Amino acid sequence: MENIHKKSQSLSMIGSLKNLKPNFKQKFFKNQLDRNLLPSPGEYYKKQGLKLTGGLEWKSALCPFHKDTNPSLRLRLDSGGFRCMACGVHGGDVISFHMQRYKLTFKDAVTALGAWKHE
Ligand SMILES: [Zn+2]
Repeated sequence: MENIHKKSQSLSMIGSLKNLKPNFKQKFFKNQLDRNLLPSPGEYYKKQGLKLTGGLEWKSALCPFHKDTNPSLRLRLDSGGFRCMACGVHGGDVISFHMQRYKLTFKDAVTALGAWKHE
C-alpha cells in the first residue's frame, strides 16, 4: 500500500509542478521542503474536516474560505490542487491550501505539515 502511494505521488508531482507559479519564496525555500513528507491530499483534506463527494478526478466539498451552503470547492486528490467556483480561492497543492486557510508563510505552512527538512 505504502509503496503504491509513494509512486503515484511522485508521478503526480510532475503535473502539480506545472501548476506552481514561479514564486520567489518557493524558489528560495525549495531545498528545505521535502515533498515526500507531505500528507497525501486525501488524508490532509479529510483532516481539515472537508467532506469530499463525487467525481473521480475532481472532488467537491463545502468551501471553508467563504460561507458555503452548496459544495463549491473542487479538489484534486492527486496533486492537491483546489479551486472554489464561488469565491475564487485556488492553489496547486496542500501547502497552498494550508497557507491560505491559516494565513501562514510558505515555511510555516510546510513546517505545520511536517515536511520541513531540518539539516
Ligand atoms: Zn469559496
